[in-house]
Amino acid sequence: MDTLKRALSFDIGGTKTNYAVIDEEGNFITKKIKVPTPDSAEKIFEMFKSIIEENYSSIDIVTISTAGAVNLENTGVCSSTPNLPSGYPELEFSKLTDKKVFIENDANCAVWAEYKCGAAKGCNNTLIITLGTGIGGGVISNGEPVRGYTGAALEVGSMKIFADKRQKCTCGRYDCWESYASGTGLKNTAAAMAKTSPEYKTGLYKDKLPEELTTYDITDGVQKGDMFSIQVFNQWQEYIFVGLVSLVDIFNPEVVVISGGMGKFANIEMLEEKINKESVVAPVKIRHAEMGNDSGMIGAALLGLRFI
Ligand SMILES: [Zn+2]
Repeated sequence: MDTLKRALSFDIGGTKTNYAVIDEEGNFITKKIKVPTPDSAEKIFEMFKSIIEENYSSIDIVTISTAGAVNLENTGVCSSTPNLPSGYPELEFSKLTDKKVFIENDANCAVWAEYKCGAAKGCNNTLIITLGTGIGGGVISNGEPVRGYTGAALEVGSMKIFADKRQKCTCGRYDCWESYASGTGLKNTAAAMAKTSPEYKTGLYKDKLPEELTTYDITDGVQKGDMFSIQVFNQWQEYIFVGLVSLVDIFNPEVVVISGGMGKFANIEMLEEKINKESVVAPVKIRHAEMGNDSGMIGAALLGLRFI
């Protein structure tokens, strides 16, 4: 039997970095290993280098799933990466080893993993939305990832949903979709609604200041039947819907995959019904992601191995 080609694949995050050797069918050849992400760009470079040396003889390529936009050559990061140490975007990844190093944005990796092995398997037109602290996005169009002019396409979290400067976003601008529909958005929605809601004044969190309400408070409050939490939660789902229906109209996907830490709270049945009612390009299916935390590593490996 012919041996399948293998990637040493990394998923670098703000606090931890995962890696494993993965073959071209997405199988794990080694167990996933988790290490803390070093606190300087130089130390990150050294970490990559020593792990590559350990695995050198058994791999064909090094692949990296990263935060930030990646250049069209898939050799480096071309945007700021607020959750990684300064100097990280300037690293010359191709100098890590004499093997090919392929780097790609984490949302693009995740959508590729879902397309090849997960919730969107076989669907050549797929949109993924990652609901976490912020919102990320990726699109497969006719079987290829959409990259944009510089590689930075699908910054869906920065899409504006109001024009009248209602709410400041963590990026410093106003009314980005992610300041309403992400985990941070759920917290913002709770703080805003608490100021006028009669149910808040008599509910589970009446003794908490609006600004102190957390995403956990709201999801827990929903479980306990707290009316205020339910109102906030429903409004948050509306914000997810507003952005999503526009993206569906723009990209005409067969499937939308919802992933990320907050993605599991999205009511996909409600979203599917509403979007199919309102979108001008329906029908579309809405699914939860299936690939979990390994989607970055698997997607990077499968994308990179296409070029070996
Ligand atoms: Zn923003």
